Amino acid sequence: MTRTTPPRPDDIVAAFPQLAPLARTATRLHPRPGSPSPRESSVGGPLLWPAAEPWPHCEGTHRVPAVLPATSPADVRLLRGIRAAARARPPGARSYTPQEHAVLARAGAGRPCPQGPVAMLAVAQLYVREVPDLRPPESADLLQVLWCPFDHPFDRPFDDPFDRLWGNMPRTELFWRSATAVGEVLTAPPQPPAIQYEDYLPQPCLVSPEQVTEYPLAAELDPDLRAQVRAWSARRKTGAEPGSAYDGAEDGYYNWELSVAPGWKAGGWAPWSFTDPAPQYCRACGCRMAPMLTIATKEHRADVHSWIPYEDRDAANRDATTWAAANRDATTWAAANRDAAHPDPATPTMITIGDGYNQQIYACPAAPDHPHAALLQ
Ligand SMILES: [Zn+2]
Ligand SMILES: [Zn+2]
Repeated sequence: MTRTTPPRPDDIVAAFPQLAPLARTATRLHPRPGSPSPRESSVGGPLLWPAAEPWPHCEGTHRVPAVLPATSPADVRLLRGIRAAARARPPGARSYTPQEHAVLARAGAGRPCPQGPVAMLAVAQLYVREVPDLRPPESADLLQVLWCPFDHPFDRPFDDPFDRLWGNMPRTELFWRSATAVGEVLTAPPQPPAIQYEDYLPQPCLVSPEQVTEYPLAAELDPDLRAQVRAWSARRKTGAEPGSAYDGAEDGYYNWELSVAPGWKAGGWAPWSFTDPAPQYCRACGCRMAPMLTIATKEHRADVHSWIPYEDRDAANRDATTWAAANRDATTWAAANRDAAHPDPATPTMITIGDGYNQQIYACPAAPDHPHAALLQ
């Protein structure tokens, strides 16, 4: 199924012709739950991995806090299956059966943190023919992304005093290959015995790539232009309702509606959030790196709906109504959120990065095989 992002609510280049040269294309991936094959682009799907090539393992140090036991991928799939089964039952019959409660209790008790190398998890596989904003090395037509499902320190744009506050994130590895050179495909890749959080296991999703145009966030513009865009953005949002997304955020309207697309995407501009923008330089050659892939927690902000594709509008409205009903009192909401109602429609991959942020991967434009950088944004 195709996904179509509606036009932006304002023509920002008509207001600021200086932005025209900063336009970049990005390919929104629009992951949606499905059953991808190794011959398809996917998030969390099976990789076209050569049977003759060792599966990547992480040799790093892994620890989990005692209060948050690790869990196994198989248990996460069981838990998600039980929740989905409960959701599919008629209203009023959604509580768990005693058998389901027993599985929840057992899986909830967790697993010990694995000692020794940990098999990495497939996170995404993208065929270049479908994702035009990937810039592959010559002869490669397939990008494979894996991560170690335990927190590792991430590359920071500066010496980060909030290290412990923001936490860390899974360590990502990228592999470029030629699909025709793969030969026999590995059918049962090793699985990690445990993962740090349920949120680090991507739900298998098919993707529906769509190219859109982006402009840099206001904070990335030069100071004069930034001031003009901020003032314009503040004026445009004066009609906004109190409590809406841009009420009180000077550049919110520009940033959230007009500049950078939310969700999983290749290329485009970076989704800076809690840190100021900082250029990233290649460790191998010193080139300025460019945003390559955004691994997102959410496909859209809860309070900004203009990026929701036309094809998902009805479902999003329906889901918003259900969520609003569940939200009326905190007890119901907690139960609905944790167990019963349904997964948040904005998080089809069921991944959470940090506290709901993105893992932004940067690549070297001069040599795609130079080491990438990853930031929590
Ligand atoms: Zn690791
Ligand atoms: Zn480089």
